[in-house]
Amino acid sequence: MVSGFCQVNYKAQREVMVQTQLIDRDISDIATLNAMRKVLRHEFVPEKIRNMAYADRALSIGFDQTISQPYMVAAMTQELNLKPDSKVLEIGTGSGYQAAVLAEIIDSVYTIEIVEPLWKQAKERLKRLGYDAVSVKLGDGYHGWPENAPFDAIIVTAGAESIPNALIEQLKEGGRLIIPIGPHNGVRQLVRVVKKNGKINITEIMPVRFVPFTRKNEH
Ligand code: SAH
Repeated sequence: MVSGFCQVNYKAQREVMVQTQLIDRDISDIATLNAMRKVLRHEFVPEKIRNMAYADRALSIGFDQTISQPYMVAAMTQELNLKPDSKVLEIGTGSGYQAAVLAEIIDSVYTIEIVEPLWKQAKERLKRLGYDAVSVKLGDGYHGWPENAPFDAIIVTAGAESIPNALIEQLKEGGRLIIPIGPHNGVRQLVRVVKKNGKINITEIMPVRFVPFTRKNEH
C-alpha cells in the first residue's frame, strides 16, 4: 500500500540511533538505553525537521534554543546514576525530551523552563504523550525548586558560568548534580558534583557546547 510505503519508520531510526550513537560510543546503562529506545524524539522537534529527529546532532526548537544531541541526553542521563525511586530535578525543559527520557526510568521528575512559550509547549506535549507525572514549572531554574527539594539528582541542560548554590543546597546527601560549566559562548566542561558529608566533590566528564543558562533580569 502506498500509505504504508510512505510511512517513516521512526522505530527503526531509533534503533539505529541507539546502536551507532550510544552503544558504539560509551553508553552502557540499560535503563538509559531502553528509555532512548522508547521516547518518540520526532514528537519533540518542530514538524518541518522531523526527518532529522534521530540525527547525531542538536536541533533548533525555536526561541534560540535547541533539543540536545541524543548522545548528550544519554550521557547525562547515565551520569545521574538513577535508581527506580530517585527524585530528579531538570533545569531547562526546552522541548521536554530529556524530561520524557527521565520519566521512562523514574516516577518523580520535576523540570523548570524560563521561556514561557517553550514551557507551555513542553507541558502540553508531555501530557499528550502520556508523561502526565512530570511536573513542569515556568521560572528561573537558578533558584531550583525548594518546595520539592531535596533531590537525588539534578541535571542542568543549559550552560552555566558557575554552579548555582541553591542547586547544591537542594541535593540530598550523596546526591549528584550534572551541569555544563564554563565561559559564555565558549566550550564548557560537563561536570559531576557529588555532595558528601556536607562537602562537594567536582569531577570533569567531557567538554561540551550548550545554549547559555539565562537569568530573568538579564538584558
Ligand atoms: N533539555 C532540553 C534542551 C534544553 S536547551 C530538551 O530536552 O529539549 C536549554 C533550555 O534551558 C532552553 O529551553 C532554555 O530556555 C532553558 N533555560 C535557560 N536558562 C534557564 C534558567 N535560568 N531556568 C530555566 N530554564 C532555563
